[in-house]
Amino acid sequence: MDGEVAVVTGAGAGLGRAIATTLASAGMAVVAVDLSLQAAETTVAAVTGAGGRAKAVEVDLGTANAGEAIVSAAAQAFGRIDVLVNNAGIYRPGGRLPDLDWDLFERTCAVNLFGPLRAMIEAGRHMQPGGRIINVSSMESLRPSGPGIANYSATKAALNALTRQAAVDFADQGIRVNAILPGLIHTEGTSGAAKQMFDMIAAKAPSRRIGEPRDIAGAALFLASPASAYVNGHCLVVDGGITIS
Ligand code: NAD
Repeated sequence: MDGEVAVVTGAGAGLGRAIATTLASAGMAVVAVDLSLQAAETTVAAVTGAGGRAKAVEVDLGTANAGEAIVSAAAQAFGRIDVLVNNAGIYRPGGRLPDLDWDLFERTCAVNLFGPLRAMIEAGRHMQPGGRIINVSSMESLRPSGPGIANYSATKAALNALTRQAAVDFADQGIRVNAILPGLIHTEGTSGAAKQMFDMIAAKAPSRRIGEPRDIAGAALFLASPASAYVNGHCLVVDGGITIS
């Protein structure tokens, strides 16, 4: 994938950083998009320190012009987009029904659903045939792990549907669209969770461990590479078997 360009949102931490550095190590120039410019710059430093090319961009995926902002930053930095990874997402328990936090529900829709949608629309206008889009969803889209996360599980389930629809809609342009559904992964975002819960889930999971960001980065590399040329409109669960345990 030498000479190609990948845009990774939420690239300043966790899964996004691992995906960005992995795609860079496969030869891609990376546009690291994040709410925090400082966090994105840390990822850029990791990429350039390893001899790669990267550019940090500050964009809030929950805003109306996020798609245009990302695409114009990528065009300015590297002149093209071959891969879009819609990774940025928020996980904040939003109240158990019927006591829903509407503001949080709407913000979660904006970041987890409308952000990826806007980015796909704008990137899709600029991608050449052969472009790839990868949406980072969640195993919570298949079954809630507990009460009070309707905002999260509903937006991620909608993202799965959007992934399949986008694969159909972008077919004539030769753009493939797939999603990754991570299980529970050690990241900054999950660092507040109780160790006891991690241990319990790991003990039950067929892989007997919680996931690491490299597990998801490996799946993203597969979906970005020609090795997955015939995989399209697919939602790939990467969870060490948690959802079947
Ligand atoms: P994280 O919280 O560790 O990192 C998320 C990054 O995204 C941060 O750098 C943050 O600044 C950025 N971000 C947040 N809101 C943003 C916005 N509005 N615009 C731009 N950037 C924004 O998260 P993570 O654990 O690495 O999760 C990444 C993705 O994977 C999310 O979509 C999440 O829902 C999904 N996911 C994570 C897990 C897990 O166990 N870690 C499991 C399933 C799905």
